[in-house]
Amino acid sequence: MPLDPLRDAHGRLISDLRVSVTDRCNFRCQYCMPAEGLPWLDRSQVLSFEEIERLVRLFARLGVTDVRLTGGEPLVRRDFPKLVGMLARIDGLEDLSLTTNGYLLERDAGALVAAGIGRVNVSIDSLQRDRFFQMTRRDSLPQVLRGLDALARHPEVHPIKVNAVAMRGFTEEEAIPFAEFARSTAFQVRFIEFMPLDADREWTPDAVLTGDELRRIIDSVHPLEERPRDPHATARVFRFRDGHGEIGFVNPVSEPFCDDCNRIRLTAEGKLRTCLFSIRETDLREPLRTGASDDELERIVREAVWRKELKHRVNEPGFTPPPRSMSAIGG
Ligand code: SF4
Repeated sequence: MPLDPLRDAHGRLISDLRVSVTDRCNFRCQYCMPAEGLPWLDRSQVLSFEEIERLVRLFARLGVTDVRLTGGEPLVRRDFPKLVGMLARIDGLEDLSLTTNGYLLERDAGALVAAGIGRVNVSIDSLQRDRFFQMTRRDSLPQVLRGLDALARHPEVHPIKVNAVAMRGFTEEEAIPFAEFARSTAFQVRFIEFMPLDADREWTPDAVLTGDELRRIIDSVHPLEERPRDPHATARVFRFRDGHGEIGFVNPVSEPFCDDCNRIRLTAEGKLRTCLFSIRETDLREPLRTGASDDELERIVREAVWRKELKHRVNEPGFTPPPRSMSAIGG
């Protein structure tokens, strides 16, 4: 732990950095982006591997121990495993993980593991091919499941989580199939409540199928018991009473977990976001590209983190969603 670790004005220590390496994606998930996609960043606007490495090294010096690589879809970034290798060599990092839609995992699993990825979250919203297509606008479930199997052949990657976004009128039918998937495989299934981060701005509170509703559907068939919550954990995790695995619920809307939030985010173009729902951002690319020293960058980062939002205000009157959508923030 550094002498003066990164903390906000609410006394929370910051140790978890989410790094978006691209805003581009090969899927078109309904809860994230429109069918036609979004205007992508020009390549010159996106941080280079060397710039990402320098910033992550700085954050590690300030107490960040966990780095999660996200997108858009990180595996569409060319030579992505090379970046993983560069980050895996940084002193002070204890955990390097990845969030992916899994489409390119069959191709990249071996290279990612060899480069240093230790944990992976794969986004799968349905285990039924037609419904997967309905949600992602891609007929890619078989390819994604092959990717998951390719990854599972590397025991050094643990855990492998399968994250399903929960949407009312869709995910109710997925609850039991995912519960049985969690019971019959080594993958840890997590349902994540739909958040107001969709580019179409169609989110409403009514569209949120809460974790508690899903838990009750599953519990009525496969009785559950709750596991104690780890500090900073975003999921409430339940064991199946008969011992066949566990399943989790990430409930940012119905049960916010902001009190002990230790997370900050770096966008693909170098903006520091201190909360998933931040309205303001701090540009690190400009100082990075105009010769700022590490001390100067550290001062900018410390000031921004000190102003980190206490919590999100999704459930409050007058809530304003952030100006950018999920694909341009990263999970
Ligand atoms: S909404 Fe913001 S403050 Fe709350 S847990 Fe997420 S990132 Fe942290």
